[in-house]
Amino acid sequence: MALWYFTLALIYGSLILMAISEILACYQRWRSRRDAELAADRLLESVADVSYHQLPDAAAAEDESAAAPSSCVICMEDYRESERCFVLPGCAHTFHRGCIAPWLRQPNTTCPICRRRPTVVIPPAQQRFISTAEDMV
Ligand SMILES: [Zn+2]
Ligand SMILES: [Zn+2]
Repeated sequence: MALWYFTLALIYGSLILMAISEILACYQRWRSRRDAELAADRLLESVADVSYHQLPDAAAAEDESAAAPSSCVICMEDYRESERCFVLPGCAHTFHRGCIAPWLRQPNTTCPICRRRPTVVIPPAQQRFISTAEDMV
């Protein structure tokens, strides 16, 4: 009889442990997703849009990989002249802002082209300072 109770306790105990670890895993997933979303929002806020004609010309760029692509690899649409583009900091690959935003919100995201991790470096306040400094020159 004691053995029966012991087995029952063991089964319930492992069930509870499984439930707890499942809840913890769930929480971890939620946290990493939230962190990724916050990081993506910071990144999207900190980078100003660049219009397509401001991108380096494919013919002018020495390095082929540094040349501006003519289309967004996420939606495969060609950039239209003076269309607002989002240049990923770190690798300078270009996408539509609307296309890269959901991509960046995924946990452990990397650049869709070069798999490099995007870096959040410049807070918006500092960026304003840089742009005003450029205006003074
Ligand atoms: Zn796109
Ligand atoms: Zn890249």
